[in-house]
Amino acid sequence: MDDVKKSILDYLENTIRNIPDFPKKGIQFKDITPLLNNPDALKLTSNLLARPFLRTKVDHVIGLESRGFLFGPGLAEDLNAGFIPIRKPGKLPAKTITATYELEYGEDQLQIHADAIKKGDQVLIHDDLIATGGSAAAATELVQTLGGKVVGYSFIIELTALKGRNKLPGNIRIDTLLSL
Ligand code: AMP
Repeated sequence: MDDVKKSILDYLENTIRNIPDFPKKGIQFKDITPLLNNPDALKLTSNLLARPFLRTKVDHVIGLESRGFLFGPGLAEDLNAGFIPIRKPGKLPAKTITATYELEYGEDQLQIHADAIKKGDQVLIHDDLIATGGSAAAATELVQTLGGKVVGYSFIIELTALKGRNKLPGNIRIDTLLSL
């Protein structure tokens, strides 16, 4: 990585706030609201998210509820792609399909509109942060069930200790700006 990029990433990292014990004890919550509220950090993040995929054919950027909705539509615009939300159960109004995935305790579900992706469409999956990788893996399953092809993953933050990338296919590009 060149020095300029490193100093930009250091700058972005310094805009992220760590909130201990939120939403429950033992979780170090990475709060990106100060990054969003800083015009330079907002623009730099949006530019850096798009850059690795500018030469990839992307038909849709998928954003995961809810913080994947913050940069997802802008990323789609930068890549001349459409935007598709993946949401928690019961939020999408038309016909959906569902993926179930395991949490530390219990399980959770994500849904996508059944008509959002056509067979062969190329999809980039985006979220603010990858922790265990469970939600990105569930999103992958939804895309593949509809016949789409995942061509990349884009996250602002990767919590490397949780090894979330091991839940994703090994042959697909995973781009993360900050490894924390
Ligand atoms: P996972 O499915 O475990 O990769 O979790 C990723 C999702 O949970 C993302 O939508 C994140 O926004 C959220 N998340 C998980 N852990 C954290 C954390 N420590 N700080 C902020 N968001 C988190």
